Amino acid sequence: MNPKAFGPIPPEFRTLDTLPWLAEATPAYVYDFGIVATRIARLRAALPRQVAVHYAIKANPLPALLKAIAPLVDGLDVASAGEMDKALDVMAAGAISFAGPGKRDAEIELAIRAGVTLNVESESEGQRALAIAGMLGMRPKLAVRVNPDFELRGSGMKMGGRASPFGVEAQHVAGLVKRLIIGGAEWRGLHIFAGSQSLDTQAVIETQAATVALAARIAEEARRAPPLVNLGGGFGIPYFPGDVALDVEAIGAALAGELGKLDTKYAIELGRWLVGEAGVYLARVIDRKVSQGETFLILDGGLNHHLAATGNFGTVVRRNYPVAVAHRMQDPAEEVVTIVGPLCTPLDRLADRVSLPRANVGDVIAIFASGAYGASASPSGFLGHPPARELLIGRSDHA
Ligand SMILES: *Cc1c(COP(=O)(O)O)cnc(C)c1O
Repeated sequence: MNPKAFGPIPPEFRTLDTLPWLAEATPAYVYDFGIVATRIARLRAALPRQVAVHYAIKANPLPALLKAIAPLVDGLDVASAGEMDKALDVMAAGAISFAGPGKRDAEIELAIRAGVTLNVESESEGQRALAIAGMLGMRPKLAVRVNPDFELRGSGMKMGGRASPFGVEAQHVAGLVKRLIIGGAEWRGLHIFAGSQSLDTQAVIETQAATVALAARIAEEARRAPPLVNLGGGFGIPYFPGDVALDVEAIGAALAGELGKLDTKYAIELGRWLVGEAGVYLARVIDRKVSQGETFLILDGGLNHHLAATGNFGTVVRRNYPVAVAHRMQDPAEEVVTIVGPLCTPLDRLADRVSLPRANVGDVIAIFASGAYGASASPSGFLGHPPARELLIGRSDHA
């Protein structure tokens, strides 16, 4: 049977003979904070100094990880009151912003009381925030999220250039900004997010330039410079065969040439790029079986812990994440196997016909590039298996 390729193992793991955490009970996610700290340092060195780095916590909201990341970034971006609570545990309210359509009145009230910036997603949400602030007798911090009139090319999830539940149409933003200010808000600026998971360096460069230009146009229409322009992010990481990492140094150099067009502070907000390659999902082989000539390894976790690796979280075509037999990383491939989880659904497929060293019952399989949109983005209650443990390692050297 012809094997199918799998994605590239992140460089930090490529030279290991064995993953060092195999004694830990599976199923588990292990996040190496040393890798996160290295990514943040590289990004800081690449970006112009006036660009703040925010972490979008929905990528991985593990409290221990947030605590370790908070001192290394300038802000946290959240998308619910639950995420806001976690962010407030580790970061001052003034450095937290809250985006997301469908904020409930109670969430808006909590944000205003705490002093968190609300990224307003619609005219009516803006009016609701003003009314709630009025009742509280407080001055709300409001930024306006813009639905940009362009999208991030090569993006796995397009968030601009079309009808959208996110943000306010670009041509209506200046009017809303004026109404919010007249209504008593402290205007915190603009939030422009055009897409996610792009590996096209040139597309990111062009999108950032278009984003700065759009912010400048809105500032002119509103006759006010925004205090902060959040340029979004959308930096992708390699997951699949042929994927090549972004050139963040080229992105930073190009961005440096754009920023003079507007007198403001800037931020970029990243989730996946900061944490994705730092995480490994580990699950143990419960059974091996052969069906009609195809060998299956059945693990003690699957789609219930790692929906994205099964191809069911925002991908059109199912492809194989980077995978290895965790204690035989450098051994030659011996057999072609399909790796599945324990759920009674054919969707629960972690690796399709990959060529690996032999793994026996009790051995551990590692799925790499699993630090973002893993545990918290998976249906852990589905079929009632135990959840995956989550461990943060590598903290002491960096935090
Ligand atoms: C999800 C999200 C992010 C983070 O996206 P990544 O692809 O993980 O970097 C950033 N900003 C907004 C508004 C988001 O919704």
